[in-house]
Amino acid sequence: MKNVLYALIIIMIVLVIIFLRKALQPANQSLEHKQVTPPSHPVILLMIDSLMNEPLQKAVKEGRAPAFKFLMEHGHYYPNVISSYPTMSVTIDSTLLTGTYSDKHQVPGLVWFDETQKRLVNYGSARAEVFKLGIKNVMEYILYCLNHSHLSNDVETIHEALDKIGLQSASINALVYRGNEKMILRPPKALSKLNLMPKFQVQTPFLFSYGALAQYHPKNNQNNQPWKAFGFNDKFTAEELKYFIQNRKLPSFTIAYFPDLDKNVHKEGPIHPINGIEKVDKELQEILNVYGSWDKALKDAVWIVMGDSGQAEVGKDKNRSLVELRSILDSYKIHDVKEPVKEDDQIVLGLNERMAFIYNLDQNITIEEIVKHLKQDERIQIIAWKNGTNVNAVAGGKNGVFTFRPDGEYTDEYDQSWFLNGEYSILDLSINEKLVGYGVYPDVLARLHSSLHSHSGNYIIVDAKPGFEFVSEGTPTHPGGAAHGSIHKQDSLVPMIVTGTSTKPEHMRIVDLKPWILHLLRQGTDKQNNIVEKRFD
Ligand SMILES: [Zn+2]
Repeated sequence: MKNVLYALIIIMIVLVIIFLRKALQPANQSLEHKQVTPPSHPVILLMIDSLMNEPLQKAVKEGRAPAFKFLMEHGHYYPNVISSYPTMSVTIDSTLLTGTYSDKHQVPGLVWFDETQKRLVNYGSARAEVFKLGIKNVMEYILYCLNHSHLSNDVETIHEALDKIGLQSASINALVYRGNEKMILRPPKALSKLNLMPKFQVQTPFLFSYGALAQYHPKNNQNNQPWKAFGFNDKFTAEELKYFIQNRKLPSFTIAYFPDLDKNVHKEGPIHPINGIEKVDKELQEILNVYGSWDKALKDAVWIVMGDSGQAEVGKDKNRSLVELRSILDSYKIHDVKEPVKEDDQIVLGLNERMAFIYNLDQNITIEEIVKHLKQDERIQIIAWKNGTNVNAVAGGKNGVFTFRPDGEYTDEYDQSWFLNGEYSILDLSINEKLVGYGVYPDVLARLHSSLHSHSGNYIIVDAKPGFEFVSEGTPTHPGGAAHGSIHKQDSLVPMIVTGTSTKPEHMRIVDLKPWILHLLRQGTDKQNNIVEKRFD
C-alpha cells in the first residue's frame, strides 16, 4: 500500500513538472526579424551583482578567474567606483541608466512607502516578505510600476538617449530597462490561470531579454525554469548575450546583468565569495570564446565589467547583529506588512537590508521624538531627516547634530557645493580650508541628500554600522553572511574594468557613467562633439 502511495506521489510530481514546463514555455522572440545596424565599436557592459575589489583580486591572484585577469591586464582597473544610495540594485541601476541620483530618478530603494497610494512598494525582497505583501502586488511593482510609473519621466535612460541619436541598444535581465520600443509582457500560462499576473505593456530597448518573459535564444528554455529563478540567472544572461554576438546582432550598447554572485556573497560573507567569482568567470570565458580568440573580443568591442554594490558582513550572533526596528520603536503602532496601511498606524517601515526608511504618519508625533528612540542604539551609524531645506544627521550612541544643504561656501571633489554646520565627524567629513573630504562614507552629502528627496513623505533614514542589518517581519536576514544597502564604503565601493578606451568618466562614481558611455558611443558617429571629447580625454 505504502509503495503504491509513493508511486502515485512520484507520478503526480512528474506530471506537475511536465505541466509547469509546458505552461512556462515562453513565447520566444525571433532575432531574425530584428534589423540591427552593425555598430563600428559596440560597448558591452557586464553588471555583476555584488562584485567587490578584494575577493576579485584574490580570485585573480589564485588563478581562479582567468577571464577577469585577461580583461584587467588588457584594460584599466578602477577598484573604487562609488555606487548610489541606498546600495540596492534597483536604485543603483536607475542611477547608472539615467546618470542621476534618486532625487531625480525617483526609485528610492527596493522597499519604500508610496504616500500618494498609501501602499508599501516592494520590488521583491525576500520570499517571506513578498508572500506577506501579496505576490500579485509585487509582480505589478516589479514588472510594470518600476520602469513605467516610478522611474521619473523627467529623466532619460541610456536606451532612450541612444534611440534619439539613432543608435540601438539591448538589455539582458536588467530590472531597470526603459526604452522606446513597445512590447506586451504576457504571463506564462501557469501564472495566467492563477490570475497572478495581468498583461503589461512595457517600453523596452531595441533588444530585450527578461528571464522567462522575454528571450531570444531557444536554448535558454532550459535556463528559465521556476527553480532557476525564471531565467534570472547568470547562465541565461550569458546565453542571450552569446546568441546576439553569434548572430551578428549585437547593437551599439548592451547591458547584461549577472545576478548570481549576490546570493553567494550574502551567504558566505564579503571576504570569501571566491567560488562565486570563479563561477561567473566561467560565463565570461564562454562569452569571450564566442569571438574565436580573446584578443579578437578585445578588438571588436569596448568591455565594461563592474559591480553594482559591495556588501558588509553581518555578525553571527543574531541577537546582536539583527537590529529589530519594531522593538526599538515599540511605543508606536507600526504598520503590519500583511495588511493595508490603517488609519491608526503611526509608523511604516521600509527596510533595505542595512538601510531603512522610517515613515511617520502621525501628525502628533515629531520626527525628533522618534529620532530620540533610534539614537539609543549604537548599532545605527547614521540617522538623518529633512528639516526645511536642511538635512539633519545624528549618530546612534553619539552626541551632537550635523546640518547641511546644497549650495554653500564648501566644495567637494565632485564640484558640488555645500552649506555645513555642526558636528561634521557624524558623517566622517574632513574639512581643509573650504574643501570637504569624505572618509568612510563616500560622496555622503549628495547621496544622503538625494535619498531624503527621492519621494514624498515625512521620513527618517537609518543606516547600520558594518556588522549589522535591519530586520522586521519576513525581511531577509544574513547572520554570519553579508548584506548591503548602507552608505558605508564597504557597501558603496565597486570595482570596474574597462577595455578598449583610455577615456574615463569625469569622476569615479556610477552616477557619472552615463555621459561617458554616451560619449564612447557617439565617437565616430558624431564628429561635432568637440566639447564632450575634451571633457573625457
Ligand atoms: Zn543582495
